[in-house]
Amino acid sequence: MAATLLDGKALAATIRAELAAQVAARLASGKSPPGLATVLVGDNDASERYVAGKIRACQQVGIASFHRHLPATTGQRELLDLIAQLNQGSSVHGILVQLPLPPQIDEATVLRSVLPAKDVDGFHPENLGLLAAGHPRFVSCTPLGVRTLLLRHNLEIAGKHAVVLGRSNIVGKPMALLLALKGPGGDATVTIAHSRSRDLPAITRSADILIAAIGKARFVTAGMVKPGAVVVDVGINSVDGKLAGDVDFDAVRQVAGFLSPVPGGVGPMTIAMLLHNTLLAAESRECP
Ligand code: NDP
Repeated sequence: MAATLLDGKALAATIRAELAAQVAARLASGKSPPGLATVLVGDNDASERYVAGKIRACQQVGIASFHRHLPATTGQRELLDLIAQLNQGSSVHGILVQLPLPPQIDEATVLRSVLPAKDVDGFHPENLGLLAAGHPRFVSCTPLGVRTLLLRHNLEIAGKHAVVLGRSNIVGKPMALLLALKGPGGDATVTIAHSRSRDLPAITRSADILIAAIGKARFVTAGMVKPGAVVVDVGINSVDGKLAGDVDFDAVRQVAGFLSPVPGGVGPMTIAMLLHNTLLAAESRECP
C-alpha cells in the first residue's frame, strides 16, 4: 500500500489560521503587532522568492514585516550596522537574514550579530546552545516544522529510532537535538549520518523515522527505507527546472508508511514556524 502523505501545505494553512487568531487576540489586548524584519543581500532569484513568500505569510496572519533589500556589493560593516539598528528597533521582534550571503560577507559573524532574543531563525549559537542544553528558546524553523508535521499527524516519536541524514547547523544538527530532547515531542533514539558515514543504506534501513536533509536529489531510494517507516524529505533540489526532494518519491512511496512530498511538505511548515517564532518573540518581550 502506498505511504500516507504528510501534507505540510494543508497543515501550514491550519497553523497560520491558529496564529492569526493569536495575533488578533494580542492586538485586542492593546499590544502592538508582532514585527519581523527580513534582510536580503544581492539578487539571488531563489532567495527573493523565499523572502517574498515569508512576507506574504506575515501579512496573512497580521505580523508586520519590515523588508530591507541591500545590493550584492554591500560590505559586511554596512550589513552589521543595519542589524544593529534592527536589534534596537522596538517594532521589530524578529530578524531574519536570508542566506546565502555574498562571498565578501562572513555568514557566521552576521548570524552572531542578531540579538539572540530576536533570532527567530534559531541560527545564533546561543539559541543552538540552549537547544543542546535541553532548554530550547528559538529552534531553527525547518527542524521545528518537521517535528510539528510528525506530532500533528499523531506519529509517535518517543522510543523510536530516528535517523537524520545531514548535520548542518541549520537543519541536521538542530533536528537531531530536537528529537533527542527529554520529554514530549522528543525521547527518540537519534543517529546523525553524513557524507563520511559508512554503509548509509544499513543505517537508514534501521530508521523508524528517516529525515533526509542533504541536498542531493532523489538520493534516498526504496532500498534504503524500512517498510512502514516515516520518511520526511527536507531537500530542495532543482532537476531539469523542476523541484525535487532528497527522496526518490515514487519509489519510496511504495515502501514507507508515511512520506512528506516536495513541494508541499516541509517547505510550508518552515514558513509557518517562522511566524510561530516571531509571535513567540513578541510575546516574550516584557513591554508591549
Ligand atoms: P548543507 O549543504 O549545509 O548540509 C548538507 C549535509 O548533508 C551535510 O551534513 C553533508 O555532510 C550531508 N551530505 C551531503 N552529501 C551527502 C551524502 N552523499 N551522503 C550523506 N550525507 C551527505 O545543507 P542544509 O542542511 O542547509 O540543507 C539540506 C537540504 O535541505 C538542502 O536541499 C536545502 O535546500 C534543504 N532545505 C530545505 C528547507 C525547507 O524549508 N524545506 C530549509 C533549509 C534547507 P558533511 O557534513 O559530511 O559535508
